Amino acid sequence: RQAGFAALRDLPAVTKDGVPITLLVNAGLRDDVGALSLTGADGIGLFRTEFQFLVSATMPRRERQTRLYRDVLDAAGDKPVVFRTVDIGGDKSLPYLATDSPEENPAMGWRALRVALERDGLMKVQARSLLEAAAGRTLSVMFPMVAEPWEFARARDIFEGQRQFLIDHKKLLPDHVRYGAMLEVPSLAETLDLLLPEIDFLSIGTNDLTQFLLAADRAHPKLAERYDWLSPAIFRFLARIVRTVEGSDTDLTVCGEMGGRRLSAMALLGIGITRLSITPAAVGPIKAMIRSINLAEVREKLETVLAKPPENMRQTLRDWAHDQKI
Ligand code: PEP
Ligand code: MG
Repeated sequence: RQAGFAALRDLPAVTKDGVPITLLVNAGLRDDVGALSLTGADGIGLFRTEFQFLVSATMPRRERQTRLYRDVLDAAGDKPVVFRTVDIGGDKSLPYLATDSPEENPAMGWRALRVALERDGLMKVQARSLLEAAAGRTLSVMFPMVAEPWEFARARDIFEGQRQFLIDHKKLLPDHVRYGAMLEVPSLAETLDLLLPEIDFLSIGTNDLTQFLLAADRAHPKLAERYDWLSPAIFRFLARIVRTVEGSDTDLTVCGEMGGRRLSAMALLGIGITRLSITPAAVGPIKAMIRSINLAEVREKLETVLAKPPENMRQTLRDWAHDQKI
């Protein structure tokens, strides 16, 4: 079966009725970039930059960060890379970044952009490193845990301040800088119309989004069944985001783990998602699924299911996919 997926590497991710799907991978280490050539994926949709911070005993210096980001861009070659600024704090705590007190609810605590905007020295160093690493190329950067549009604007201003610094010092710059937001805090969906004109791309982080929408800790073993993204509430919510983004020229990607599961990915395509960023091992199986579906039929099925949701949406879709030989 593995050999079967490898044979798909150079075949396009296109549905039977001719709709092309963009398949990207999630990465966090320099070595992960090799997955691009191994899988034939279109690029890196999520590079989690916090890994370098988590494995380090002290704050990674600017030169070290720049080297990593440049190595990643070099290794990716012509394929695009989206760097996510650090998502640390909460349960991913760092010994060199002191917090005042242990947190009772770290997932919704002082993490990600909340840390980066308050300790903006950290964000400035990361911005400089990314801008220098991408000199002469495109830099795509996105911010995690954006809950309100002003947070995105503040984060972008920090990057733009560093870009101005490089201009003033006659340093080499990226040819183009693209700024994106992650939608993983539900409140952002309610102000998305205000954010859209400001951003170049949007990426839905369904791992966190699911836990916040269902009030179910993504890591709690007793909640594993309740934490089910293949549910009517999640899909109605996602379908609404797709409709809001449609008509703007903003790229919309799903970068949560669900995009790497066959049934969930099929359902995402069924509500209009055309870009998935997934774990590298899933590229083969997801491409096989894409090549086996008639998207018009999947869309019709999702519309019916979401209009009058069955008690167990997962089972309903599983049975249907089985009948369709998907
Ligand atoms: C997500 O929340 O879906 C996501 C992609 O980010 P992370 O898993 O790193 O929190
Ligand atoms: Mg997240």
